[in-house]
Amino acid sequence: DVTATKENEFEDYFLKRELLMGIYEKGFERPSPIQEESIPIALTGSDILARAKNGTGKTAAFCIPALERIDQDNNVIQACWHQFCMFMANLCCSCLLVPTRELALQTSQVFKELGKNLKIEVMVTTGGTSLKDGIMRLYQPVHLLVGTHGRILDLAKKGICNLQNCAMLVMDEANKLLSPEFQPSIEHLISFLPTNRQILMFSATFPVTVKDFKDKYLQKPYVINLMDELTLKGITQFYAFVEERQKLKINQSIIFCNSVICVELLARKITELGYSCFYIHAKMLQDHRNRVFHDFRNGACRNLVCTGIRDRYSSCQIVINFDFLKSTETYLHRVSVNLITYEDRFNLYRIEQELGIEIKQIPPQIDQAIY
Ligand code: ADP
Ligand code: MG
Repeated sequence: DVTATKENEFEDYFLKRELLMGIYEKGFERPSPIQEESIPIALTGSDILARAKNGTGKTAAFCIPALERIDQDNNVIQACWHQFCMFMANLCCSCLLVPTRELALQTSQVFKELGKNLKIEVMVTTGGTSLKDGIMRLYQPVHLLVGTHGRILDLAKKGICNLQNCAMLVMDEANKLLSPEFQPSIEHLISFLPTNRQILMFSATFPVTVKDFKDKYLQKPYVINLMDELTLKGITQFYAFVEERQKLKINQSIIFCNSVICVELLARKITELGYSCFYIHAKMLQDHRNRVFHDFRNGACRNLVCTGIRDRYSSCQIVINFDFLKSTETYLHRVSVNLITYEDRFNLYRIEQELGIEIKQIPPQIDQAIY
């Protein structure tokens, strides 16, 4: 995935010599596509919302412009009076927010490696580390603060870390950062930043939370999306709350299960109940599967039970997810009526969130016109 398409070189970005050396010493030869898209725009100071698959080099896509834009000579330490103590409040130039401690450590490592020939001081601060150590560390210059939002907000609220000069805020894995429980503190944190700050957001998905945040806080942002969007346009989706045992009362069209064993058991059960039923699962040969599917399509049978297979079900009017899906991507391949048990509800809310769609509870009568 980490290969260039535009044949750009890192030299084309007029980076500081020391930074370019760091990039080559890390073994990067060419910018990856997400780096080609983001680096030149980020270097102009514009806000960005970007999306690309995992492992495509998003970290360097924000590390490189951040390292380039930080002025290593500009680090003013100034005294700041707070409650009963005198703190040396540090003016940090750039701030990176990540959802987890592990990611904070990993990312700071990338900053240190790429910036090893620069004199840029990186500080990592996350929950679970000693606040006192953080305070002590802030007596020394810090150009770049990497951390989780809770701790950074804490330091900012206590007046220990002055973010008034923080010209750049990076939010990595923004879809996770903007979960409902984190969002208020992220918004609070932003209130400590200067108004002319630059915000770079990297996100695996573009759910409504991310889009709303972009509209509210980013200024004329560039939206970069390197993922093929699978859309659900024109498909009306419903869910129906049922108890696990009630699922057997419904028998129409295609029923999806999550495992081979479930397919076989359910198909047998349906047959035993006196309804015609075919099944297809991943352990069957492709030829056999195609034949069954072909017969099903031709109306040889009313019910098909299967595991997630790639075939298109365009002629099929109703799809039932017997077992609710655990991942959003799988969901995109099969949509329609979902039988939701009480335990499934969080997965349902998450899929709605991530896809930016609404899945309504099924009405007692379905209007034929929606098909
Ligand atoms: P993402 O955050 O998009 O999941 P990472 O930033 O973690 O991806 O990068 C994935 C891997 O690709 C890392 O091992 C990183 O060192 C490597 N990588 C990033 N950019 C390049 C590049 N331009 N050339 C070669 N390898 C790269
Ligand atoms: Mg990443």
